[in-house]
Amino acid sequence: MISVVPNKQIEMTIPLLNLNREHSIYKIELEQAIKKVINNTEYILGAEVKELENELAAYLGVNSCIGVASGTDALLVSLRALAMKTKGKEYFSRNDEIITTSFTFTATGSAILRSGATPVFVDIDPVTYNLDPLQVKRAVNVNTVGVLPVHLYGQACKMDDLKTIAKTRSIFIVEDVAQAFGATYGKNKLGSMGDLGAFSFFPSKNLGCFGDGGMVSTKDSDLAILVEMLRKHGGKDKYNVEYLGYNSRLDTVQAAIILVKLKYVDQFNRLRRKIADDYNHLLADLDWLVTPVFVKEEEHVYHQYTVRIKNGKRDQVQKALKEKGIASAVYYPVPLHKMKLFIDRCIVRTPLSQTEKACNEVLSLPVEPLLTEEEIDYVIRNIRNLSYRE
Ligand SMILES: *Cc1c(COP(=O)(O)O)cnc(C)c1O
Repeated sequence: MISVVPNKQIEMTIPLLNLNREHSIYKIELEQAIKKVINNTEYILGAEVKELENELAAYLGVNSCIGVASGTDALLVSLRALAMKTKGKEYFSRNDEIITTSFTFTATGSAILRSGATPVFVDIDPVTYNLDPLQVKRAVNVNTVGVLPVHLYGQACKMDDLKTIAKTRSIFIVEDVAQAFGATYGKNKLGSMGDLGAFSFFPSKNLGCFGDGGMVSTKDSDLAILVEMLRKHGGKDKYNVEYLGYNSRLDTVQAAIILVKLKYVDQFNRLRRKIADDYNHLLADLDWLVTPVFVKEEEHVYHQYTVRIKNGKRDQVQKALKEKGIASAVYYPVPLHKMKLFIDRCIVRTPLSQTEKACNEVLSLPVEPLLTEEEIDYVIRNIRNLSYRE
């Protein structure tokens, strides 16, 4: 006789991300691509880098993509290129203000500092967690040189509004697309709407490599030339340079890996959307949790699936999920304007209350594209069970 334990839930372990599971799908292709690079020995700026740059430019609908060493460097060289083009100087000055969000990864703000400018933090829209265009509009003054929207968690900022502000005030837009590869705003891919877009291929991003990597996208040929110079010591000729540049190139082997993964990224982003859709529908009725907003005209790529936990219960919920084997994470617990690095170097003109509230309430759940139905169901069931306890 088969004995069944009634109501006994199967215990599972669900990490936030399981890269091995993804890689198993295209392991042979990856190994072949890596072997080819090893044999060709063109390890720096080899053919695969150019091939990737061309493919990504076509994918995004821009004129140029330039591979760099990280997403952080992509932001930095984008801003430096803009200082060079718009000011005729190698760096911005401390008086030059760049408006951005405080609810982001450190690199967004530190790139502004390293470009010589001062970050001006404005509050987020509590529904999307992204820069609130109204706040941006209010913050623009004679010192403002640009705005740096971050498409957080894989969701588009309100680019139409930001573009209108940028146009009327003659300021630039650099998009931080580190979390949003493949996402769209209307008909446009993110990273194609600003003056430049900065992408990251950090392993955990939607399109990641096997180390650090990044990319700059732009439609402006002057900026493309400057970025290309900056990634290669600051000159067209590396033995006779004009500007203070970097050694910041995307490795050929990483480009080869990304070329393989690029074939799967749209499919994987669709799987992420499908999981998010399940979560959205099956968690919608919980009054202590807020699911992310769904915008029909935009393709969110759910780098993170992030909910808001109300009533100060976030840490309790995270702990309870952990006890059930379900990983979750807080992006981000500390806003940039509260970090020692930024406190004396940034401008905060209006309260950042929505930013601070979000830091205390957000929780990202597993949204790994290859989660099974059973795993998704397990997460949902355990979250729903919590509601009886809270
Ligand atoms: C990951 C990330 C970066 C930095 O990318 P790296 O490749 O790690 O340097 C910048 N901004 C945001 C929003 C990110 O998530």
